[in-house]
Amino acid sequence: MNETDKARAQYLSKAMDSVWNIASDFERSINPDSKPDPAPDLSKTAQVIASEKSLDPEISRCNLSMLSELCSKCEKCQLSKTRTHVVFGTGSTSPLVMVIGEGPGFNEDQEGIPFVGQAGRFLDKWLESIHLSRDENAYICNVIKCRPPENRDPMDEEIEACQDYLIQQINLLKPKAILGLGRFACQFLFGSDSKITKVHGLLKMYRGIPAICTFHPAAVLRNLDLKRPVWSDLKKLAAFLGIPV
Ligand code: SF4
Repeated sequence: MNETDKARAQYLSKAMDSVWNIASDFERSINPDSKPDPAPDLSKTAQVIASEKSLDPEISRCNLSMLSELCSKCEKCQLSKTRTHVVFGTGSTSPLVMVIGEGPGFNEDQEGIPFVGQAGRFLDKWLESIHLSRDENAYICNVIKCRPPENRDPMDEEIEACQDYLIQQINLLKPKAILGLGRFACQFLFGSDSKITKVHGLLKMYRGIPAICTFHPAAVLRNLDLKRPVWSDLKKLAAFLGIPV
């Protein structure tokens, strides 16, 4: 959180405390015997609100096809220089579940479609196991839309440059739930200090949408012991959506 956001968070926290105190005073004035609840700690909420940036106005005006078009020409970060294709997203445009991965790899960069390599086939099997598919009721995309060279981790400034596309995709698609895959999706959804090993399988909210994270298919291919927790996380998502498995 930068200094400006910290100042905004402090200001918001004080303002919310004041509102709480005014409401408590009002309640006591009309019912002197009442014992209003003690003020909750609103500082965390203030931090979340303060760090939410407003969307790029051009992006916020886009429908999905305009957004895809805009994204395909994007040069907002250095990844535009090395990509072959922008990998915007694919799947149902009224999805039950929006799946968010990390970023395109070699195959995705070549084809312009997310999750098409070995990890993609693995993901398709996971989705199938809970009666979801990219052809019918799921939408698949990534935190960043262009491939980092040599499949390195995306940098903070690249994620920040790209995040408005993803936020607008979520705003437009309005999924019933979000499934985040791996560390970068987890941090995008639940905050930069979230650890996938700690929060996987927990149902939380992202901008009012239920969201759950699990391990990235590529990580599971490297460590098959992760298959069991992934299956447990997927079953939780299915149970939340009322899908029998
Ligand atoms: S990664 Fe995102 S911000 Fe960077 S060039 Fe690609 S689309 Fe634009």
